[in-house]
Amino acid sequence: MKKHLLFLGAPGAGKGTQADLLSKANSYLHLSTGELLRKEIEMNTNLGREVKDIITSGELVSDELVLKIVRQNLDKDNNGWILDGYPRNLSQAHSLNEVLIEINQPLEVVFYLDIPEEVLIKRLLLRGRKDDTEKTIRKRVDIYKKTTEPLIQYFKELSLLEYINADRDLNTISFDIKQKMA
Ligand code: ADP
Repeated sequence: MKKHLLFLGAPGAGKGTQADLLSKANSYLHLSTGELLRKEIEMNTNLGREVKDIITSGELVSDELVLKIVRQNLDKDNNGWILDGYPRNLSQAHSLNEVLIEINQPLEVVFYLDIPEEVLIKRLLLRGRKDDTEKTIRKRVDIYKKTTEPLIQYFKELSLLEYINADRDLNTISFDIKQKMA
């Protein structure tokens, strides 16, 4: 059974949902950088205040900052982990690689949740999170295409990529992922 997983895909592809289900079923740590950042905003911490405007506008927060969060959380003793929303660009992918070498926990599989753009924009508008306005959604999808999408090729070359058709119902996707995890 694979224990060190990563979910890659556009905003709205369902990474959070699938990572949540899988982490609960296996008692793995679910590490969502977006979720952790939103918590900081809610708690009105220094970090939260620093990132609030960036997140609301749909831009990415700095690589240094997210790396710090990832490093702090991955270091904890855990049974396994699922990364969701990190890395989001090549520089973050290289930093992650260094951290994983340090902690001696190599990544075993990357699930790429593939979904047509029209579907995800509809999904995000329905979700209605604070940063889910039409304008920021388009911005996030744009940034995704430019900076995150190259990671598909990157992980493919490392033979880590598993393709998942994410334009299906939640349970079908979940079943597919579980089979590919074995
Ligand atoms: P979504 O997948 O819908 O974009 P997330 O919860 O993953 O939602 O992220 C929400 C926001 O948090 C992003 O738009 C970005 O501003 C910030 N964020 C999350 N992860 C990262 C990251 N790895 N690098 C930079 N910014 C991030």
